[in-house]
Amino acid sequence: MDSIDWRTLMNAETTGYPGYLTIDLGALVRNYRKLVAMAAPATVSAVVKADAYGLGATRVAEALAEAGCRHFFVAHAGEAIALRPHLPEDAMLGVLNGLLPGAEAAVAAAHCTPVINSFAQLARWRAQAKIEGRRLQALLQFDTGMSRLGFSPADRAALHAEIQNSPDIEILYVMSHLASADEPDSAQNASQLSEMRKVAEEFAPLPLCFANSGGVLMGADYHGALARPGIALYGGAPHAGAANPMEPVVSLSIAVVQTHTVPASTAIGYSGTHVTTGETRLATLAAGYADGLHRALSSRGAVYFQGQRLPIVGRVSMDSMTVDISALPADALTLGALAEVIGPHQTLEALAADAGTIAYEILTSLGHRYRRDYR
Ligand SMILES: *Cc1c(COP(=O)(O)O)cnc(C)c1O
Repeated sequence: MDSIDWRTLMNAETTGYPGYLTIDLGALVRNYRKLVAMAAPATVSAVVKADAYGLGATRVAEALAEAGCRHFFVAHAGEAIALRPHLPEDAMLGVLNGLLPGAEAAVAAAHCTPVINSFAQLARWRAQAKIEGRRLQALLQFDTGMSRLGFSPADRAALHAEIQNSPDIEILYVMSHLASADEPDSAQNASQLSEMRKVAEEFAPLPLCFANSGGVLMGADYHGALARPGIALYGGAPHAGAANPMEPVVSLSIAVVQTHTVPASTAIGYSGTHVTTGETRLATLAAGYADGLHRALSSRGAVYFQGQRLPIVGRVSMDSMTVDISALPADALTLGALAEVIGPHQTLEALAADAGTIAYEILTSLGHRYRRDYR
C-alpha cells in the first residue's frame, strides 16, 4: 500500500486522458458575487445556455444556486426542461429564444418562463394558460436595435393593449439585449438605452431586464431590475480589449502523445503547410479542432510549458496538433506531460484572438473528451 505514489496514479499517462479541463467553481461564485456587488440594487441572474457556455450547466447552476442565485436563463426549451430538476423550486428559469410551436405544454409543466418574442408566441402561451387553468409567467422581449428577437417599436401599442387584457399571463420583466456591450464606447449602447427607456415608460410599472456582462460594467443606467451576465461568470472579459476584472474559471492542459526531432525541410501536418527551416524538435499534443482548438489556430497559436511559448506548427488536426518544442531543454516535455493551453500564461481571450474568434466560441466548443475536474 505505502509504495503507491499518487502522482503515478494521477498523471495523464496512466489515466489516459488527452487533456485536463479544470473548472473552478469557487472562482465562478466569486465572479457571481462581484457582479452582484456591481449591479446592486439590481438582482443578478445567471445565463447558463449552451451547457453553461460549455462548462456544465448542472454543476454551474447548482453552485450558483447555493450562492443565492435565483434567476437563470437558457436559450432553448429543451435545455430548460433538462436543467429544471437541478434548481431550487423557487428559482426562475427563463427561455431566451422563446417558444417554438409545440413546446408550450412541456415548458409549462416544467415551470419554466419563456421570453415571449412575438404575438404568435403570446397567443400560444395564453392558450396554454387556458388549458392549464392557471396563470403562466413570461418575460416580454423588445427589439431595441439588434434586430434579432423581440417585439418591434411598431408592435408596442398593440402589445400593451393585449397585455392589459391578459389576466392569464403574468409578465415578470420587460427585456432587451445589447448588441455592442463588449464595446462600451459604441454609440449603439446609448441608442438601445434610450429605446429601452421608452419601453420602460410605456410598460410601467413592469421591471426591466437589460444588461448582459458588458452592460453590468457600464453602470446603473443599464442594469434595470435584473441583469443577465453569462461570459463574465465564466471568467471571460466583459469588454473587448480592456482589463478583465473577472477571475479565470477555466484552465486547460493537453497531453503529449509523441515527441520527435526532424531535419530541415520537413513538412508538418495535413497539406504540409509548415516546412522546417532547420533541425526541429516537435511534440504532438492529444487534442485538436474537435476539442475546441480551432483549425484557425494552424501555424498561429501556441501552448506553454514551464512558461515557454511553444508555437503550433502546421495544420491543427481533428484530434491532435503539433508544436515546436526546440526552445525547451531536451527531455523537458515527454510522453504524457501536460502543456498549458488556457492558464496562467495564456488567457482564454489570447487563445481566442489567435483563433480569430471570441472567448464564447472557444468555451462552447471545448467538447467532452477532456477529463473535467470541478474545484
Ligand atoms: C447570451 C445572452 C446573454 C449573456 O450575454 P454575455 O455577453 O455572455 O453576458 C444575455 N442575454 C441574452 C438575451 C443572451 O442571448
